[in-house]
Amino acid sequence: MEFKPTIGLEVHAELKTKTKMFCGCLNNPEEKIANTNICPVCLAHPGTLPVINKKALEQVIIVGLSLNSEIPEYSKFDRKNYFYPDLPKGYQISQYDMPLCKGGELSLFLSNDFEESKRNIKITRVHLEEDTGKLIHSADGKSTLIDFNRAGVPLMELVTEPVMHSGKEARLFAQGLQLLFRTLGISEADMERGQMRCEVNISLSKDEELGTKVEIKNLNSFRAVEKSIDFEIQRQKEILEKGEKVIQETRGWDAGKEITYSQRLKEEAQDYRYFPEPDLPRLHIYSEGKSDGLFNLEELKKQIPELPWKKKERIMKLCASLGDANLLIQDERLMNFFEEVIKEFNDIDVKNKEKIINLSFNYLASDLKGLMESKLVVWEKLKITPQSFSQLILLLFEDKISSRAGKDVLAEMVEKGGEPEEIIKSKGLEKISDEGKLEPIILEIIKNNPKTIEDYKKGKENALQFLVGQAMAKTRGAADPKSLEKLFKEQLS
Ligand SMILES: [Zn+2]
Repeated sequence: MEFKPTIGLEVHAELKTKTKMFCGCLNNPEEKIANTNICPVCLAHPGTLPVINKKALEQVIIVGLSLNSEIPEYSKFDRKNYFYPDLPKGYQISQYDMPLCKGGELSLFLSNDFEESKRNIKITRVHLEEDTGKLIHSADGKSTLIDFNRAGVPLMELVTEPVMHSGKEARLFAQGLQLLFRTLGISEADMERGQMRCEVNISLSKDEELGTKVEIKNLNSFRAVEKSIDFEIQRQKEILEKGEKVIQETRGWDAGKEITYSQRLKEEAQDYRYFPEPDLPRLHIYSEGKSDGLFNLEELKKQIPELPWKKKERIMKLCASLGDANLLIQDERLMNFFEEVIKEFNDIDVKNKEKIINLSFNYLASDLKGLMESKLVVWEKLKITPQSFSQLILLLFEDKISSRAGKDVLAEMVEKGGEPEEIIKSKGLEKISDEGKLEPIILEIIKNNPKTIEDYKKGKENALQFLVGQAMAKTRGAADPKSLEKLFKEQLS
């Protein structure tokens, strides 16, 4: 029997509040000058007292509501005691046994595999704590500087049940979570900037009982999440297959070598001596059916925008494969443009609508995006309106221009703007399906290519394609390749 890997995830995200968690200092992750946004509270001077940032509580509760978590009526903060130079208090205010959110789930909705996209990952809890400062080690290794700008920034922690089984699942979960945080506007959740950080725990077992757990800390990209798990599964498997034991430990990820390495063993792990934070009151979040407490959950629910997986369901009803819908929900600007384009097709009958919408999507996702990238055009500067774009799509759909001409028109629209019909007229790109107009062109090509005609008569298949290509070039893509093929065959028979 194979060893089965079991994976749990811990995700930290810095909240996008105006001020820090327990003081009035600016919460500005962009601040470049060290120790600018600091005060006696976040530096833990003696005699100072923390004051709770209500907005941070609200943001975590909104995350919980979006994930169908239970929101307990009461919550509290606790002290997590450990010493580290970037932690000014010598303890961190966190939440121990009464988190803001309990339970909940998130599906792997960003998967391109239908079955996998329906898989729900159970969440254990979501709680709130404060971030630490940053240590900056000098290049010569002789000194370390501390920047406290980040100390006291509200930090949300989400913990999953150990229910995932591969690096890919964990990566999809983390990506889905990032999109949720951004949709809710509660965190930029940029992993490279440390605004979202992942820790994973992995164990292997042949039965229901979980094996020895290994943690990997400080994963700062989705790639690192997936690769480190897959590496660790393989490493543990090899140990177990040799009949040896996996050591319970914390490991780091070397992104360059793509390996995990031992950081510290379980024996050295800390006892955090949690106890209720004496400087903060217990939190009365709400009362079921009454209007007392800090929040009205019904009001908070109204603040939740359309969630990414709901948006995806809606898009999938319109058109688009699972992969297309995933692309759209992850690209807000593309999605908005697409929705505006679709509105232009409201009056079109259902039978053609699906085809037109699919055509729009293809021209948007590959052609328009490709042109924007190659010509370095940003959405703000884009000269094409959804209305003129939809006009172009209709002309293509009604076969009034060839797809080659369509691409030329689109390129012109990206560069100079304008209406597709005018561009088509000025460039003479209307499709020529009038056989009378095509005949002289065909006769000329036949006259000029005696060698190809010989090949064609000998039965060489690509000879005909060559002739059609010549005619297409001559008409600058305005002729219909099918009618050209037919006309050549007639002339040469
Ligand atoms: Zn402060």
